[in-house]
Amino acid sequence: MTDSAGVPHQQPEGQMTDEFELAGVPDAFQRLWTPHRMAYVKGGQDQFKGKDECPFCVAPGRSDEESLIVYRGKFNYVVLNLFPYNPGHLLICPYRHVPDYTDITVEETAEFAELTQTAMRVLRKVANPTGFNLGMNQGVTGGAGVAAHLHQHVVPRWGGDGNFLPIIAQTKAITQTLDEVRQQVAQAWPAG
Ligand SMILES: [Zn+2]
Repeated sequence: MTDSAGVPHQQPEGQMTDEFELAGVPDAFQRLWTPHRMAYVKGGQDQFKGKDECPFCVAPGRSDEESLIVYRGKFNYVVLNLFPYNPGHLLICPYRHVPDYTDITVEETAEFAELTQTAMRVLRKVANPTGFNLGMNQGVTGGAGVAAHLHQHVVPRWGGDGNFLPIIAQTKAITQTLDEVRQQVAQAWPAG
C-alpha cells in the first residue's frame, strides 16, 4: 500500500514491483526514482525534521517540471502526486507549512477550495473521469503521509478502476510518464 501522500512503503532492495501485483508492468513509475526527487520520496511516515525537508515546502522552489507542479496560485499550488493512485492524481497544497485544515486563513481556504474545483474541471477536460475522490488526511493517525503540511488529494476515478491499475494498464494513460501528464494538466489549466 501507499500512504496518503502516495509515498510507497519500503520494498526490499532492488525490487520495484508495484503493490498491485501486475506482472510485466514496471513501466513509467520506475523512471520516477530520480535523485532530484528524493526529498519528495523521503517525506513519508517517518516525517521529517523541519521545513527544509518538507517535500511540499521544497517543491515550489524548483521548476514546475522538476516538482511536477501544474499550477501556482497566490496562496496554494497544485502538484501531481509522485505516486498516484490513479493517473492525474493531484494535490492542492498551501505554500505555508501548516498541518491542519483549521490552520489556513479564510483567504487561503477560499483559494484552496477554488483550486480543488478547477482541478476537477481540468481533469474532466483532459481525462474524462466519471468520478472523484477528494480528501485530506489529518495527522499521522488520520493517515497523512506528510502530516506536517496540509494537502488535499484530488483523485480522478473511472468506472471499474477499483483495483485501478489492471484497468488503467490497458489505457493510454499508463504509458504516459508523469511529466507528460503534468504537461497536459498544466496546459489545460485556465490562466489565473
Ligand atoms: Zn511544508
